[in-house]
Amino acid sequence: MAEHADILIVGAGPVGAVCALALAESGIAPLLLEARAADRKLTDSRTLALSHGSRLILERLGVWQRLAGATPITAIDVSQKGGFGHARLNAAEEGVPALGYVLGYDELAQALDDALAAAGLAVRHDAAVKSALPGRAYAALKLHDGDLLTARLAVIADGGRSLRGEPRISKDYGQVALVGRVSTDQPHGGLAYERFTPCGPAALLPRGEGYALVWVTSPAEAEHLLALDDDIFLAALQNHFGGRAGRFLSIAERGRFPLRLAWQGSSAGERLVRVGNAAQTLHPVAGQGFNLGLRDAWELAQAVLDEPADPGAATTLARYAASRRRDTLPGMGFTDALVEIFSRDWGPLRRARGLGLFALQAVPPLKHFVARRMMFGARG
Ligand SMILES: Cc1cc2nc3c(=O)[nH]c(=O)nc-3n(C[C@H](O)[C@H](O)[C@H](O)COP(=O)(O)OP(=O)(O)OC[C@H]3O[C@@H](n4cnc5c(N)ncnc54)[C@H](O)[C@@H]3O)c2cc1C
Repeated sequence: MAEHADILIVGAGPVGAVCALALAESGIAPLLLEARAADRKLTDSRTLALSHGSRLILERLGVWQRLAGATPITAIDVSQKGGFGHARLNAAEEGVPALGYVLGYDELAQALDDALAAAGLAVRHDAAVKSALPGRAYAALKLHDGDLLTARLAVIADGGRSLRGEPRISKDYGQVALVGRVSTDQPHGGLAYERFTPCGPAALLPRGEGYALVWVTSPAEAEHLLALDDDIFLAALQNHFGGRAGRFLSIAERGRFPLRLAWQGSSAGERLVRVGNAAQTLHPVAGQGFNLGLRDAWELAQAVLDEPADPGAATTLARYAASRRRDTLPGMGFTDALVEIFSRDWGPLRRARGLGLFALQAVPPLKHFVARRMMFGARG
């Protein structure tokens, strides 16, 4: 006999957890199914830049208060290697305390685990979902251990790690993000750097006393860089990044992530919906992936709360999916355009990019437009 719940969420990662907390705020208690064992924490070497808009949602859910270690980004310096043009976005000019906040994926996952426990939300661990079938009356989820569960709404928040469908848009960038933590001989003062190079963008995000590094390059170059001794790696980084942030002194926690763009969208079938990386995967150049996923989770909860009598109603899911497309597709287009425009090493294009950066610096409405997109998404 199948176990039944009104709302099941597959995956208690950051997006699944936010979705559960947003529903719980209005008295709906979903059941979370998580593949990890209860004593296995989510560990991941990536650093996340959360937008100001994400902070507002996390504050509302009581999670932000648990993230004392997040480092504010007070300004972002944008430049290109081998070309003129330079722009600086400032929190003060936008009238906000910070443009974004930097923290480890692990720190966020821990704060969300604690918030789920504090809200009394049930997480069933060791519950890896094998398949999810849509249906008119309810969705049916089959677990790897053979258990069957049904729900009026099943939310797929597995990060696209297992219940993959066929993406409607897909592109392999043929690039890898090499991540790590670096220190320099200068205090960062909250300043983040985004430097575009022909091999891919490189970012330094202020994190704690030092920086989180995201260095996008080819898979072969990443393998080579990962194998280097620290001293030689730091010399290569200095050569690649230049001296803007000072002299690089140390590197730790090196890791790599392959990069691709994929969009499946939110609608997955009757009484099934996708959120977060299960719905879309982006290049990290603009730090938008989790921020978009968080807005997925928040908006889904609001859509369900509008019609609580039938949480997985087709009309609710269709309205939700259409609304998310208006945020997600422009965000993906913006991110993809940045990657494409800045990765070509062609003289006239380099000059055009320089003029673009010059305009971004000199034209306040343009700067304001870009800053708001980064803070609140396409509908900023
Ligand atoms: C290098 C890099 C840098 C990034 N930087 C940023 C940034 O600065 N800002 C930003 O906003 N985003 C960034 N992102 C994107 C961000 O990391 C993701 O968007 C985010 O982690 C997605 O969260 P999620 O909850 O959807 O998925 P995940 O984090 O993958 O969580 C999925 C959860 O589902 C569970 N699960 C998986 N399969 C099953 C199953 N079958 N049954 C049950 N449970 C299951 C997993 O155990 C996990 O707990 C970056 C990504 C990369 C690669």
